[in-house]
Amino acid sequence: MLEIGRLGTFEFPAGLYLYCGSALNGLKGRIRRHLRRDKKHHWHIDRLTAVAPVAQVWWVVEGARRECRWADAIKEQGGQIVARRFGSSDCKCSSHLLWWEKGEYTSDLYRILFADAGQATFGMWAAGKDEDSPGFEPGESAKSPS
Ligand SMILES: [Zn+2]
Repeated sequence: MLEIGRLGTFEFPAGLYLYCGSALNGLKGRIRRHLRRDKKHHWHIDRLTAVAPVAQVWWVVEGARRECRWADAIKEQGGQIVARRFGSSDCKCSSHLLWWEKGEYTSDLYRILFADAGQATFGMWAAGKDEDSPGFEPGESAKSPS
């Protein structure tokens, strides 16, 4: 059980979670912050990243926000809501955090989320690739969704 600010207290089943967010004032800084455990809790996701490791970061650099579309698409692919309104105080989504009961992320999901990325710079960062530098560097692992 975790208390998520004013949303209340929720049960988080063991497993993988996908959280969709945007960083309008700098992607690298925001991601690095999400990867740190020790921080002041400002966003709902801070409560979760303080107690659970971040396994992967899927990112896109572009002008438009896409967290609502991604949250929708993940839900459509089987992502489940365990904390209503988590990360979605500023929009109409039921949640920006989805529990991925299926376990492994699939390449299908990757292909679906990045299908319309077009000319944008995008990619995936995986924790543990280099144990000595857990930082996030967009660009180093950019790849096409095909
Ligand atoms: Zn939304």
